[in-house]
Amino acid sequence: MNPWTGNLTFLICLIASIAIRIPHDKRSQETKVVKDRKGAVEKTLLGLVMAGLVVFPLLSFTPVLSFARYPMHPVAFALGLFTMLLSLWIFHRSHEDLGRNWSATLEIRESHALITNGIYQKIRHPMYTSIFLMAIGQALLLPNWLAGPATLFAFTLMFVSRLHTEEQMMLDQFGAEYEAYRQRTKRIIPGIW
Ligand code: SAH
Repeated sequence: MNPWTGNLTFLICLIASIAIRIPHDKRSQETKVVKDRKGAVEKTLLGLVMAGLVVFPLLSFTPVLSFARYPMHPVAFALGLFTMLLSLWIFHRSHEDLGRNWSATLEIRESHALITNGIYQKIRHPMYTSIFLMAIGQALLLPNWLAGPATLFAFTLMFVSRLHTEEQMMLDQFGAEYEAYRQRTKRIIPGIW
């Protein structure tokens, strides 16, 4: 199978995810930030995730990473495409449900409300589920040992570093309401974890 089919499919899905985010980004910039937990580690990890999602996939089109290429398998392509489409749907739903409460980093916005409905009903971090799915899709769609797993590596670091801080920030803000929500939901996989 032509390896560029995987690369191009990934790129189209990446552009779709940016298109999903743009209107929310605009709206979020209009909403005042009242608390901010983003430190140097958070900013560095955010940069690393961007490198994994954008820089490495673009480099995979150039000869720079050609030494790490391997042949594309049709089953990997089909699974990768399915994973990417599922990721885009969850990415869209989580942005819609969070609305004005969404931030790219750890922040509490003016009139921040705790969202516990829609896609947030069963899991507390559906957006992170969607980013993990995107990272798995990337690993399946880019037949390159470096560019493929780049986001999976970077986002795992970011997720591990962020999870506790984000939940603590939500607990500080919403107290018992968030604790009760935490008790009845899982983190990223419905019914499992
Ligand atoms: N972790 C969530 C949200 C990611 S966006 C997810 O994966 O879906 C990060 C911002 O969302 C945080 O700064 C926090 O302010 C906000 N947030 C996280 N969970 C929330 C919830 N249940 N309701 C409202 N805001 C939430």
